[in-house]
Amino acid sequence: MLNVEALRVRYGEVDAVNRIDLSVAKGEIVALVGANGAGKSSTLAAISGLVTPSSGKVLFDGDELSGLAPEQIARKGVVLVPEGRRIFGSLTVAENLRLGGAMHLSSAEAKTREEEMLELFPILRRYYRIRGGNLSGGEQQMLAIARAMMSKPRLLMLDEPSLGLAPQLIDTVFDLIASLRRKGLTILLIEQNVALALEIADKATVLANGEAVLSGTARELAGSDLVRQAYLGA
Ligand code: ATP
Repeated sequence: MLNVEALRVRYGEVDAVNRIDLSVAKGEIVALVGANGAGKSSTLAAISGLVTPSSGKVLFDGDELSGLAPEQIARKGVVLVPEGRRIFGSLTVAENLRLGGAMHLSSAEAKTREEEMLELFPILRRYYRIRGGNLSGGEQQMLAIARAMMSKPRLLMLDEPSLGLAPQLIDTVFDLIASLRRKGLTILLIEQNVALALEIADKATVLANGEAVLSGTARELAGSDLVRQAYLGA
């Protein structure tokens, strides 16, 4: 579904992403893991059109995405939930959800989709008329995911969904991500919390200093000495 080939992202003299390859097949969760500053967010930014790669290719179902505007990429079904959630704090849960579907759906379709999202995220039904800014961090993360899901993405990209959440809420959010996959959604997940990412991913790539240092199934990576020593505290 998604094929990233020799992707390179530079900010002036800084090589943030250096010729990485990545592929995500339909129905998989692929995790991109690594420490702070490894180049994970820059990879997602390049896939979603927020930054222009200095070289390399991003192909989605064989179509080249590089060079398209972020809205055009979103319209193809590649949707990003950015780090830090970025919901609209002064708008209600209902208004946030409507904005998520605004670009693509007719009002009847948006209503049906909203109902599906409220089934999937019961907490959002409970807080339907509450302002986003009054929700807890975990609830805001769910709202951010539900808002992205409103547009019926084919590939959902999640940037650090565990960031800043209490451990119990992290479990809730990750259970939800796993349940989205069971419904057939394809997911590219970025995580600093390597142990957590490897628990739900099918495949993973470890990034360090902008380079892909290791790729394989999540099980292979969880068993590798490098991952165990560098990221799992073994
Ligand atoms: P984090 O978890 O902190 O977001 P990351 O793995 O997502 O880390 P990136 O944010 O992609 O890493 O950053 C990769 C490198 O690029 C880092 O050295 C970072 O300082 C640098 N960088 C990121 N954004 C910019 C920018 N807008 N201008 C200059 N350098 C940047």
